[in-house]
Amino acid sequence: MPAITNHLPTAELQALDAAHHMHPFTTNKDLADKGARIITRAKGVYLHDSEGNEILDGMAGLWCVNIGYGREEMAEVAARQMRELPFYNTFFMTTHVPAIALAQKIAELAPGDLNQVFFAGSGSEANDTNIRMVRTYWAMKGKPTKSIIISRKNAYHGSSVGSGSLGGMTPMHEQGGLPIPDIHHINQPNWWAEGGGMDPDAFGLARAQELEQAILEHGEDRIAAFIAEPIQGAGGVIIPPATYWPEIQRICDKYEILLIADEVICGFGRTGNWFGSQTLGIKPHIMTIAKGLSSGYQPIGGSVVCDEVAEVIGSGEFNHGYTYSGHPVASAVALENLRILQEEHVLDHVRDVAGPALHEMWHGLSDHPLVGETTIVGMMGSLALTPHKESRAKFAMEAGTAGFMCRERCFANNLVMRHVYDRMVISPPLIINPDEIKEFGRRARKALDECHAQLKEQDML
Ligand code: PMP
Repeated sequence: MPAITNHLPTAELQALDAAHHMHPFTTNKDLADKGARIITRAKGVYLHDSEGNEILDGMAGLWCVNIGYGREEMAEVAARQMRELPFYNTFFMTTHVPAIALAQKIAELAPGDLNQVFFAGSGSEANDTNIRMVRTYWAMKGKPTKSIIISRKNAYHGSSVGSGSLGGMTPMHEQGGLPIPDIHHINQPNWWAEGGGMDPDAFGLARAQELEQAILEHGEDRIAAFIAEPIQGAGGVIIPPATYWPEIQRICDKYEILLIADEVICGFGRTGNWFGSQTLGIKPHIMTIAKGLSSGYQPIGGSVVCDEVAEVIGSGEFNHGYTYSGHPVASAVALENLRILQEEHVLDHVRDVAGPALHEMWHGLSDHPLVGETTIVGMMGSLALTPHKESRAKFAMEAGTAGFMCRERCFANNLVMRHVYDRMVISPPLIINPDEIKEFGRRARKALDECHAQLKEQDML
């Protein structure tokens, strides 16, 4: 067997991949037939593949590469930390400087009294921590019956048994015995798809009030927490009507239930502030973080916890932790990422330069015959593909057929856009510049034109 490197022909690498590598959220049999796209390197907002294509990454990897690819400083920090202390745990009364420094920095950036961090290796793990933490919090306060966590249909909170249960993705619940007990899902604030004849504000209010109905239905003494993404990401970048979050906050305050904001996508500049909670005006007790925390250069996540919850949890032993909680290399790299975001004023760039340019480009696509609404906050947006804009109609064929077709046309035009059923979603690196955004727009329009032609050709319009 020759060494497996970028120098092997694409077909050989694809065959080896198909022989040994099981991919996440993939029908591996179909992928083996087709062959995986092989990414070899990346710089800024561009990916390069084994066929020599230069691909504009409109998704920042998986919503995570906020500072863009190829930052040398990140590699330097990782190498330095690996030489000095590649690993030590944070169990058994031990700590180390990278974990201390990162926790301090996160506490400094986080709003309100979110001053304590419990580290994890990913967003899924962090949400598993949250399930155990909020239930333990109430048990330690002498209210062990408060164990139900309310979440939402079409939410995404991770893929482990716990976090997959918190999420509201039916295809995930159908596999592996999910959800675990005492997770309850209410409807999502997706006005485009589910608002019918209601105006968006009334719909937002009605969907928020489902939280109150669920609390009353189960009894206040049964409810531990409500969890939600400030803006649903994997569900299709669903931006709630303006009435939604204030009503959710009112209900959480009234019934004194813990509010968990899952900031895995919205955190670290994606919405134009450090956290989506600030953009949406939410006051969470716990925030889930991952992705943009390290810009994906190292796997790391965590729960940022308010003083009161941390104090209660800290009054006894919390029998929970991961080998890689506060991993020194991941922590050092995350800290360097936060330094870059801060010292290079990346949030100002989002607010003043990239955000406005991206909004103009995105809303500019709304005149396309296939495009229904275009929505965007900061650097995360989505558009609805529709056969008929005015009635917000769905396609006659299976949901996701048009979205998949559009994604394929994007790929063919060297652009990564993802589809969630028949919504196209974007979340580019935050450092993208106006020229790159123009190029993004050109490729997106071309992909939409080709998708439109293909749908017509196949009598799907
Ligand atoms: N929460 C949200 C909001 C996410 O978008 C994701 C990942 N897409 C997760 C949690 C899970 O994070 P991870 O994949 O790092 O486990």
